[in-house]
Amino acid sequence: MTAARAANDLDPFWMPFTANRAFKAQPRLLASARDMHYFTPDGRAVLDGTAGLWCVNAGHARKPIVEAIQRQAEVLDYAPTFQLGHPLAFELASRLAMLLPGDLNHVFFAGSGSEAVDSALKIALACQRARGFENRTRLIGRQKGYHGVGFGGISVGGLENNRRGFPTLPGVDHLSHTLNLEEAAFTRGQPTWGLHLADELEALIETHGAETIAAVIVEPMSGSAGVIVPPLGYLERLREITARHGILLIFDEVITGFGRLGALTAAEALGVTPDLMTCAKGLTNGAVPMGAVGVSAAVYQSVVEGAAGPGIEFFHGYTYSGHPLAAAAGLATLDVYESEGLFQRAAELTPYWQDAVHSLKGLPHVIDIRDMGLVAGIELEPRAGAPGARATEAFHRAFDDGILIRVTADVIALSPPLIISRDQIDELIDRLSSIIKTIR
Ligand code: PMP
Repeated sequence: MTAARAANDLDPFWMPFTANRAFKAQPRLLASARDMHYFTPDGRAVLDGTAGLWCVNAGHARKPIVEAIQRQAEVLDYAPTFQLGHPLAFELASRLAMLLPGDLNHVFFAGSGSEAVDSALKIALACQRARGFENRTRLIGRQKGYHGVGFGGISVGGLENNRRGFPTLPGVDHLSHTLNLEEAAFTRGQPTWGLHLADELEALIETHGAETIAAVIVEPMSGSAGVIVPPLGYLERLREITARHGILLIFDEVITGFGRLGALTAAEALGVTPDLMTCAKGLTNGAVPMGAVGVSAAVYQSVVEGAAGPGIEFFHGYTYSGHPLAAAAGLATLDVYESEGLFQRAAELTPYWQDAVHSLKGLPHVIDIRDMGLVAGIELEPRAGAPGARATEAFHRAFDDGILIRVTADVIALSPPLIISRDQIDELIDRLSSIIKTIR
């Protein structure tokens, strides 16, 4: 302990994914939130163009969700799910199993997206082993993929800043990402260019042998890398190749899940069903941390029902797997999504959104605009010698001007709550347009 500190001292909190010294020299703080807005400590409203961190899909502080969490905290604050259970975890799993596409009808709970990813990778490995394929241990991800920050996640992930300086799992390969500004800049929705990149999987299978490969993991739409939209037919082709070779396909739907693309999942929106699916964020509307893995009946049967004796089949789990408050939040969130038809709303808003974001074409520095569902990526040309500086300047100016945007490198990412109105889309894009016009 150091000397007594003021309650509002910013120094002790080592902030994640933040330039701590710069932030603490000029902090930007959020004090409260409701529906489409955050409010600063001095009461200034900030229009949320990013649903927090891609998670508050139903808007902030929604009453039914708040009340469900409050009620649950009074009834059962915590219960383990190791060899004990409580009703809401089973109820949420059943509800998800009914909603998820195909035969994804089992759910493994975790506490975050990163935990969901590491759980999914381990389930895939356990499944291959249970099926007698001891040598199927290789994992395949993608360049620029983001799968959280666990050691499994950074190994299959492909963002160099997140991997550099850390040990990663052996036996991991990466497919190329599908972003190509020369071929596909300013495409509306899914590009036609890039389908052939799925065939790199065939090449890897030829190199290593299918009998050594456990699973392929991809984000159906990459978010954190700066919004990379899958080429038409690309995910379908990955599905076809993996199925043909006994390789499990994992969709990381931490961002795309719960309505972002106008359906419950990207899998549903695109009609491609993986063997395993991770989700988090929108699962509880961001209100309580929770992640989950949707697991196919076949995978569950291989690991759980195929096990020889009555012992534990899978040595993995978290203290907070199926946490009662998260389960309560998840159930209430699903109710809100359903009663307000928010996924349908997102689908109906998409053309308006697409027109709005593509209206930024022609502004200074803008070298690409990408969109899918209620997501957009606006890529700026890096300032000479200062990559990321333009987008960071835009982020600061936007916040000061009353809109929250997100930036990675020189890409501005937008992913508003699905309750956004057309007027608010106009406001977001008009303000962003003015900001882009004035950045150096
Ligand atoms: N996977 C994807 C696709 C993500 O976008 C994220 C978070 N942005 C994660 C995993 C990690 O989730 P968390 O931050 O909850 O660990």
